[in-house]
Amino acid sequence: MARRQESARGSMPLSELLVSKESRAMASFGVRDLDTMMRFAPRRYMVPAPLRSLREIHQGEEVSAIVEVESVRDRAMRSRHGFVLEVTVSDGTDSLPLTFFLTKQHQVQWHRGRLPIGARILVRGTVGYDGYRKALQLTHPDYEPVEDTDEGRAWAQRPRPVYPLRQNIAQATMRSATEKGLEYAGSLSRPVPAEALARRGLSPLEEAVRRVHLPLTVEDTRRGMAHLRYEEAFVLQTIFAQRRAQDERTPAPVLAAEGPLQGLFDERLPFALTDGQREIGAKLEERIGNGHPTSVLLQGDVGSGKTVVALRAMLRAVDSGHQAVLLAPTEVLAEQHHRTLTTLLGELSRAGQLDAHPEATRVRLLTGSQRTAHRRETLLDVTSGQAGIVVGTHALLTEGVEFASLGLAVIDEQHRFGVDHRRRLRAKGPSGQSPHVIVMTATPIPRTAALATVGDLDVLTLRESPGHRAGVSSFVVHEKVESWVTRMWQRAAEEIAAGRQVFVVCARIDEEEADAPAPPALDEEGREKAPPLEPARGVLQTVRRLAERPELAGARLAVLHGRLSGEEKQEVMERMGRGEIDLLVSTTVIEVGVDVPNASVMVILDAERFGVSQLHQLRGRVGRGEHAGIAFLDTSAEPDQAHSQHLQRIAEAPDGFALAELDLRRRGAGDLVGEEQSGLQRTLKHLDVLRDARAIEQAREDAFAVVAADPELTAHPALAGAVEERLRDADPDVERS
Ligand code: ADP
Ligand code: MG
Repeated sequence: MARRQESARGSMPLSELLVSKESRAMASFGVRDLDTMMRFAPRRYMVPAPLRSLREIHQGEEVSAIVEVESVRDRAMRSRHGFVLEVTVSDGTDSLPLTFFLTKQHQVQWHRGRLPIGARILVRGTVGYDGYRKALQLTHPDYEPVEDTDEGRAWAQRPRPVYPLRQNIAQATMRSATEKGLEYAGSLSRPVPAEALARRGLSPLEEAVRRVHLPLTVEDTRRGMAHLRYEEAFVLQTIFAQRRAQDERTPAPVLAAEGPLQGLFDERLPFALTDGQREIGAKLEERIGNGHPTSVLLQGDVGSGKTVVALRAMLRAVDSGHQAVLLAPTEVLAEQHHRTLTTLLGELSRAGQLDAHPEATRVRLLTGSQRTAHRRETLLDVTSGQAGIVVGTHALLTEGVEFASLGLAVIDEQHRFGVDHRRRLRAKGPSGQSPHVIVMTATPIPRTAALATVGDLDVLTLRESPGHRAGVSSFVVHEKVESWVTRMWQRAAEEIAAGRQVFVVCARIDEEEADAPAPPALDEEGREKAPPLEPARGVLQTVRRLAERPELAGARLAVLHGRLSGEEKQEVMERMGRGEIDLLVSTTVIEVGVDVPNASVMVILDAERFGVSQLHQLRGRVGRGEHAGIAFLDTSAEPDQAHSQHLQRIAEAPDGFALAELDLRRRGAGDLVGEEQSGLQRTLKHLDVLRDARAIEQAREDAFAVVAADPELTAHPALAGAVEERLRDADPDVERS
């Protein structure tokens, strides 16, 4: 954490400004300088109960009242060590005792010093009842001196910031630290230009931080926070704008040829492209044809036809004399993509073979589990440029594979793919050029969420699906309700009897070892929390258990998981593809893109352990062909638990768009685009990508204008500093692309 010590903004260190108790409290949150502290927002505000007269108060109520001290008495406690301080206060309508139990004499003196007879104070507390004296009282109330004027009353009613706390830190310490900080607010760094603030009707920073930390009204807190949110969005959008500007200065292969392959491919296609595919295809071509590297996020629900769109762009790359690569997160998927592409391309993919079309290219698969000789041959094709299209896993980027002339990279599934990958890709282009990048995702995110998190990508969205898909219905099944479980397996058996196939997905392979760490489930408030896994719910236990279920007697079962070799996995998938397996129990190796049109049932065990987008991917594996699909989200959570309700909402969500929004509302942006991508947004402090959509759009417009006029931010040193700070916070290595 040493890097946090020095501040890019040259901001005042807190150790010089606060007493050590305060600066230690702030340091426990990593807050070490004035600028950071002033932007360290309260978690919430406590709004005092409305002022009351003492005549109207009742037992159990939260009250605030302005009162005068009438008498103060203290005595030693009889039964135990310590003192009782009794203060009687009155507001002219009634009087009320305030009682403090104190252990030390000096505490008694401290209170006495603050409560002279006749002093006017604001008291706040919960009204209690003294059974001994049969009277109302306040025990250990908060109090502070106050003037009985309009101003005094307004001050008394002000919302109190509530900061997050760590052990041994008092709220009062956090408040006194920030209040001291406010005295130096004039020296804060101001990353947002004054014109932008004025345009958006935001108060200057100094005023904003006062409203955040020492508000007079609830409206103040809103206006103060609005500034901080906008500022955060503005800095983020400046980063995206600079990356875009950087791209515009970088040369990329021009993929503009109206060459033979794409046309021949279109003629071969057994279906007509949808309007959406055509439109998105045209936009893609416009971007990859312009000589600067473009980064596109191509989003569309499972089965919306993204692959075909991407393939047409890849063919354009080949037609333009360059290569294209398609990267998948796993070998199984890479193999499947390779099969899909060669099937779709047919004779157009078989250059060098007897039955090839004269204009054909080569489509090569490159994976780690290939035998050396085969791999060497493939590498030769890649390096020489014989292979127009290469399919592989992300590992291909780190393995030092050299392309003859890489023009376009298509990445399947953005949630496994980070900025770091993109940077590596940038270096793979021919002679100082950067290839274009298309990232495909089946978990579309709302527009402003995309702007806030992957704002340096162009987002293109396929909204309609080709419509030949029968679709999937989802149901939540409670393990605890035996009849539902039985019904689920009966249903699976019925499908098998009708010639269909079934997937069963488990969170792990067996009891000892997790295949891939399952994503954490969520607690009641939507925070991450992994409940203990039921024993005997791994792949290996499950397949044994299912073999004994009477409903499934005679069904051909098999397993697929990460401990099988690449060849074994491939063999299982091929057998599944040929219909030789009725029911496949697997880990999430089948998560993305596995295509078995004959599969109609997807059972997901311990469904609450999977992320929303994962569940959506998984259920998208069935109902792909002419047969309607059924997805069972099986959980051992009680039906009325948050987990079950969450699964129920997923089951009911009509499509990936609805789900993405559900996911966002539940988890915030942190998990939006997966771990690797999340460097920048992991550190979103004030922004909520849904709530603050407007601020994000405005900040984007303003920041892009600033960068367009001044790409290096020479005239905006404070902004340049904030950008640097932000990138450093995000991740020193990953984000600096
Ligand atoms: P995605 O990658 O978005 O999940 P795919 O590109 O894999 O979707 O398409 C899903 C299925 O729909 C594939 O079998 C594909 O061949 C088919 N398909 C794609 N576009 C069309 C279309 N315009 N009309 C009919 N079928 C299509
Ligand atoms: Mg696909």
